[in-house]
Amino acid sequence: MNLAIIGAQWGDEGKGKIVDLLAPHFDIVARYQGGHNAGHTVIIRRDGVEQKFVLHLIPSGITHPGKVCVIGNGVVVSPEALLVEMDELRAKGVEVNERNLLISNRAHLILPYHAALDRQIEAHRGGNAVGTTMRGIGPAYEDKMARRGLRVGDLTDPATLAEKLSTTGKQASRLLTSLGGEPIDEAKLIDDGLRWADKLAPHVAETAYFLNNAAREGKTLLFEGAQATMLDIDHGTYPFVTSSNSSVGGACTGAGIPPRLVGLTIGVIKAYTTRVGGGPFPTELDDDMGELIRARGGEYGASTGRPRRTGWFDAVIARYAVMINGLDALALTKLDVLDELDELKICVGYRIDGRETGEVPYDAGLMARAEPVYETWPGWKERTVGISRLEDLPARAQQYIRRLEELSGAPFGFISTGAERNETIIAADVLNRCGWELSV
Ligand code: GDP
Repeated sequence: MNLAIIGAQWGDEGKGKIVDLLAPHFDIVARYQGGHNAGHTVIIRRDGVEQKFVLHLIPSGITHPGKVCVIGNGVVVSPEALLVEMDELRAKGVEVNERNLLISNRAHLILPYHAALDRQIEAHRGGNAVGTTMRGIGPAYEDKMARRGLRVGDLTDPATLAEKLSTTGKQASRLLTSLGGEPIDEAKLIDDGLRWADKLAPHVAETAYFLNNAAREGKTLLFEGAQATMLDIDHGTYPFVTSSNSSVGGACTGAGIPPRLVGLTIGVIKAYTTRVGGGPFPTELDDDMGELIRARGGEYGASTGRPRRTGWFDAVIARYAVMINGLDALALTKLDVLDELDELKICVGYRIDGRETGEVPYDAGLMARAEPVYETWPGWKERTVGISRLEDLPARAQQYIRRLEELSGAPFGFISTGAERNETIIAADVLNRCGWELSV
């Protein structure tokens, strides 16, 4: 059975760990949207030595020998960032070659001028800045939709690449200077382009054919979502969102596979909430409790190092993510971060302009005015780090989990109690009910 792993909040839920845990059960791991603004952290212990991998663009499956990783057409690819990531992996002993890393020829390129445009556009937004990672993701998607982008496939034809880069480079320079920025260095862009072409061309493939043919041959696919449901361009807290469909629909358009090939959909959700960048966050804790969660959870961006905003678990969002993605199950992460708390709050609804609702409002302004309606639960005040059986969790932790599960509307198939693979409770009964026999 194929599987899609989707962020159920505002990202950084620990998708990297869950994908890494499940990757051994699949033949192919595919990314389908976003760019190197994602930052999945995977911690692996090999021969007793802990190794940390932060993956931005390459699917987290790459650390598993024998798996094929695919960067789908819906991803925007910075050739420079990709080459750096490939080199870093190789330096840590991970094999990266043209057999285990395929890049869609239809994926759009992020070029250096996209990052320069990102900075200029954010500066012009002033107080309304979206809080982008400034890596050019948004401007690259803008060029894609405006039908003037360059694609990965263009790297396979050096004869026309220079001309295409010269044309788009001139357009970008005009736009940059009109925004008060510097024009780009066209000669350098072309030199860089030819270097990228040389190094990346062997990885470029017809990935939609590859994935569909593989599925027909009985190979199994794992779709790795980046960002999350509340950052989806259509379903998130617009305009404080990413520039792609990070909910499950993106897996079809961004990998070139039909809906029936998605199979199971699992949402990853933290036992509390975090968000990076601007935008509404009803359960945000702007106090010592928020700081405690940030410190215990290490809530600093894997890509940017930015401190993440922290808050209580929001069941309104959880239910919405279950609905938008049709989540079969949830993977609850970072339960251990809450171990020291005296009591915990769970947001069960919003009060907006005096009215109660259990739905996510469409408008960021309305969401910013949402006051959370809370339930309070006692903390367990015991260490849960590394616990791998549900019955070994303190009774109050079990109570908290049951309540989150009830409010979210999807069963918890996994409960993560630490960053490492084995620090996970696997609810085999839940997965079996979803039709999936898993023995980890
Ligand atoms: P992603 O973008 O959704 O993959 O999330 P990140 O990798 O940015 O953030 C998750 C962070 O939490 C990483 O540093 C993980 O190693 C860590 N992590 C994942 N699951 C757990 C957990 O259950 N407990 C703790 N303490 N850390 C976890």
